[in-house]
Amino acid sequence: KAKKNLGQNFLVDQAAILGIVQAADIQPNDQVIEIGPGIGSLTEQLLLAGAKVFAYEVDDSLPEILQNELPPKIDNQPLSQRFKLLLKDVLKANFKEDLAGFFDLKKPIKVVANLPYYITTPIIFALAESDLHFASLTLMMQKEVAERLEASPGNKEYGPLTISVQTEMKVNLALQVSHNSFMPRPKVDSSVVVLTPLKDKPVIGNRQHFVWVVKMCFAQRRKTLNNNLKALVPDNTTREALIKELGVDPRIRPEDLTIKQFIKIARNVHRK
Ligand code: SAM
Repeated sequence: KAKKNLGQNFLVDQAAILGIVQAADIQPNDQVIEIGPGIGSLTEQLLLAGAKVFAYEVDDSLPEILQNELPPKIDNQPLSQRFKLLLKDVLKANFKEDLAGFFDLKKPIKVVANLPYYITTPIIFALAESDLHFASLTLMMQKEVAERLEASPGNKEYGPLTISVQTEMKVNLALQVSHNSFMPRPKVDSSVVVLTPLKDKPVIGNRQHFVWVVKMCFAQRRKTLNNNLKALVPDNTTREALIKELGVDPRIRPEDLTIKQFIKIARNVHRK
C-alpha cells in the first residue's frame, strides 16, 4: 500500500515511464542515480535500456519488493552488478561517498527520478549544490514546480528556485503527464523536466551567499526592490547607489530583475 507521507505516487502508465527513459536519452552503460525507485517500474526500464542504476529510497519495506520485481539478470549480468539500492534519505546523501565503488566518478552521471513531491524543491537545491559531474537531470515533478524552473523575469513563477537552477542548468520541458498516470492519483498534473549543465555558467561567486541574497530579495515578493533591499543594505545612500548601478526603477519588484542583476546585487551585499 502506497505511503502518502512519503510522496508515493507510483507510475502505472507505461507510455509515461518510457517517455522519461527517452527524455533522459539513456544509453548502454550510462550511470544513473534514481531517487525513490518505489516498486521499480521506472528502474526496470532504465536497466533494460542499459543503465547502471544507483537508487536512494527511504521506505524500508521496498527493497524486498524491488528484489522480486526487478529481473534477476540483465544482459547476462546479475542484478547486483547493475543495480544498487541505498536505504537513505536522499536529502542526507553524501553523493561522492555513497556512489564510490559503484560508479566511476570521473564519468558523467545522469539523475532520473519521479520525485517525491513533498520534497521536490529541497531535492533540486541539493542536486544543484552537489559537486557531482552531471550529464543531465531528468525529473518528474508537479507541473507548478516545472513552471517555476522554466520561468523568465516578469513571470509570477520566477523566483529563488528559478534563479538557483538557471545559473547552473539549461531547463527543458520534455513532457506533460496527467495525474491519471499514477497510483494513487496525485491532485495535480506533472511535468518531466530535463536539466543540462550550462557550458558557460554565469560567475556568481560564492553560491551559498548568492542564493541567500536572492532569497532575501524575494522575502516579500509583493514589495518593491527598494523595500526588500532594506534588510540587506540598510544604509540609504549605499542602497540608492546600488539601485542606480543596476539601472532599474527602485519601485520594481524582485521578479522583474534578471539573473545578471541579482549577481550584481550579491557582489555588493556583505553578510554580517
Ligand atoms: N519511481 C517510482 C515510480 O515512478 O513509480 C516511485 C516514485 S514515488 C513518486 C517517490 C518515491 O520516493 C517513493 O518510492 C518514496 O518512498 C521515495 N522517497 C520519499 N522520500 C524520499 C527521500 N527523502 N529519499 C529517498 N526516497 C524518498
